[in-house]
Amino acid sequence: MSTQIPTGTLAPARPATGLTPAVEARGVGKVFTTRAGAVTALENISLSIAPGEFVSLIGPSGCGKSTLLRLIADLDAPTSGELSVFGKAPRVARENQDYGIAFQQAGLLPWRTVRANIELPLELHGVGRAGRAARATELLELVGLPDFAGHFPHQLSGGMQQRVAIARALAEQPSLLLMDEPFGALDEMTRERMQTELVRICQESQAAVVFVTHSIPEAVFLSDRVVVMSPRPGRIRQVVPITLAGGAERSEELREDTSFFAAVTEVREALHEGHVDRGGSGGTAPTSTPRGVDAR
Ligand code: ADP
Ligand code: MG
Repeated sequence: MSTQIPTGTLAPARPATGLTPAVEARGVGKVFTTRAGAVTALENISLSIAPGEFVSLIGPSGCGKSTLLRLIADLDAPTSGELSVFGKAPRVARENQDYGIAFQQAGLLPWRTVRANIELPLELHGVGRAGRAARATELLELVGLPDFAGHFPHQLSGGMQQRVAIARALAEQPSLLLMDEPFGALDEMTRERMQTELVRICQESQAAVVFVTHSIPEAVFLSDRVVVMSPRPGRIRQVVPITLAGGAERSEELREDTSFFAAVTEVREALHEGHVDRGGSGGTAPTSTPRGVDAR
């Protein structure tokens, strides 16, 4: 993709200090009370995410990944423990527009053009017409869609719609991006292209990212650290630091590098732990996909 990156214009409006974590969870728990009884979705989650850091959450379906993201986004509240976003209560961080959100469905407004969708959050927060237009132009460049400003969502492919959603999430220069399986609905090739794009966008915008995914290679390719969660009640089973050849550089060749395979194996084994007899002592045969994790 031959996207020209505008320089110097996309740094966070409120650069986070190096000392305050982007996200800090201390003993966070979440119990849902339903008519059928209490469901413990999360238990004792403690995690600190640095400014600019890319952290993926991976684990079986129903282990509380989306719930954790929703707590960070102040869409729901923990039932125990403490959570802060840039040292503030999640509600305050939301009011300060410290983070942008992108979910699996792009969630664009069908009656608005691409440009008008990207401008929406700015419009809602009273940014003037000229300011909105300038910012949208910059973001359209960043996500590689400058020629599609006047198109409507239905005229775009799924991957392009997701790029618009990411541009919209970045509109207010958040220091934190919360993404819940944003590429889950895309075909494998588009998905890999989007991953490469996202790495570039994050380096440019310097935002920290909390990224929920079912895909081990996706988590490894994108992340500085992968948080592996256990089945419900969701706990952190292991945090895997990702060290790949070339450091922060995430080239396409990396996907075939031994360092990439080694990291994929490490995350896979952390996911399998407790599910599969890996000792070869005649127990359950290892499967290529951890139970409960969607193969995609
Ligand atoms: P994941 O995203 O890892 O697949 P979720 O965070 O969506 O998992 O859900 C974790 C658990 O909490 C699941 O058992 C789910 O059924 C339950 N849960 C999530 N949201 C609610 C809710 N609003 N009310 C009751 N139970 C919920
Ligand atoms: Mg989910």
